[in-house]
Amino acid sequence: MKFPEKWRKWVSGILLGGRASVLVNRSPTPEFNCYRGLRQGDPLPPFLFVLAMKSLTGVMKKASQVGLFKGLRCGIGGPTMTHLLCADDVIFVGERNQENVLNLRRILRCFYLVSRLKINVNKSWVYGIRVEESERMEMASLLNSKTGTFPFKYLGLLVGGNMNLVASWDPVVETFRRRLSLWKAKKLSFGRRITVIKSGGAGSVNLGLNQGNNFSVRSLKRGIDLVQGGDVDYTIEWNNYVPKKVGVLAWRAEMERIPVLVELACRNVVVASTWCPVCDEAEEMAEHIFISCRFAQAVWHCIANWCKVPPFFAFSIHDILELHKHYRLPKRKAKLFHAVCLTLVWCLWKMRNMVVFERKEASVNNILCEIKALSVLWICNRSNKLDITWER
Ligand SMILES: [Zn+2]
Repeated sequence: MKFPEKWRKWVSGILLGGRASVLVNRSPTPEFNCYRGLRQGDPLPPFLFVLAMKSLTGVMKKASQVGLFKGLRCGIGGPTMTHLLCADDVIFVGERNQENVLNLRRILRCFYLVSRLKINVNKSWVYGIRVEESERMEMASLLNSKTGTFPFKYLGLLVGGNMNLVASWDPVVETFRRRLSLWKAKKLSFGRRITVIKSGGAGSVNLGLNQGNNFSVRSLKRGIDLVQGGDVDYTIEWNNYVPKKVGVLAWRAEMERIPVLVELACRNVVVASTWCPVCDEAEEMAEHIFISCRFAQAVWHCIANWCKVPPFFAFSIHDILELHKHYRLPKRKAKLFHAVCLTLVWCLWKMRNMVVFERKEASVNNILCEIKALSVLWICNRSNKLDITWER
C-alpha cells in the first residue's frame, strides 16, 4: 500500500515492543517481551483492522468477479454483496451451496497464509435464511464453526427479529436510556439530537425521546420522518368539483411521483431522451411539465385571463395547488378556481401523453378548449347549484 519505511517501523515497533508481566498469587512475574499484539486500550487496532481488511475486500472482489464466490445481489441491476465489515467483525454473505462454502474456506485459508490473520472458530457462527437445520450444520462443519439461529443481537440491534414488536426494540431503547441518563434530552437542540441519534448504534434510529417511557413504533416512524426532512407538506386539499383521479394526479405530481422521462431514466428504464417532448428545451421533470415549460406557461396565462385573475408566477407544483388561497377570492369562487387549476394539471398531463405516445402536436388552443369544456362539465355536474354560466 506504499506506506513509507519509517511509518512501518513505527507500527511494528508498537506491535512488537510491548513488555508485560502476569499477576500470580497477587505478585507480578518477571517482565517478558510481547512479540505480537497491542496494549490494552491502544487506539490503533481499528485502523490496522481497516488496512488488513482492505486486502480481504480485494480478495473477495476478485473471487466474486471470477465466479469462485457467489454473493448476494441487491435488487435487479444492483451491486453484489459478498461481505460486510463493521467495527472488528466480518460478515460473509453468499448463496447457499456447498461449493460456495468450500471456496470461502479456501479463501480464508489463503488469507491466513498471507496475512497471518486466523479465523477464531469459537467466535464464528453460520446463519441461514430459510435453510434447514441439517444443511446449516453441514455447512458449519465445513467451516469448522458453530451454527447460530435468528434472531441474534448484533451491534446492539436485534437481527432477524420481528421489529413490529415493541419488545424487539428494548435493547435499542436501553442503549439510548443509558446514554441519555446524564443528558437533559428536552434541552437539546435539534442538531445535538441528531448527534445523539447517530451515536446511538449502527441503526441510527430516532426514538420518541421526549415521550417519556411510552415508546411506540409509530412514534419512531414519525421521528424518522422528522429527521429526514419530513417538513414538506404533501397534504392535498381535495376538491369534489372534479373527479378523484384528477386530484390524485395533482397530488402525485406534487410529490414527483409521476412517470416523467427523467424519473424513468433514474430507474433504469431505457428512454430515447430525457428532454421535454413538448418544447425540447429542458429536461422533462414534473415541475417542468406543469410550470416552467413554455407550453404550460402559455396555457396558465390564458386560463388566468379566462378566470379573470391577475397573471402569476409559480415556482413549484405546490404553489399552483395553493394558488386559490392567495387571490382572496370568496370561498366558493376560490373552490371553483382550484377546480380549474386541477383540471389544467390533468389536461396538461393528458396532452403530454398524447405527444409522447401518439406523436401528436401540442396545441395551446386545443388544450384550452379541453380545459374549459371539462372544468365546466365537471363543475356543473358535481356542484349542487347549477347557476354557473360559461362566462362565470
Ligand atoms: Zn417543455
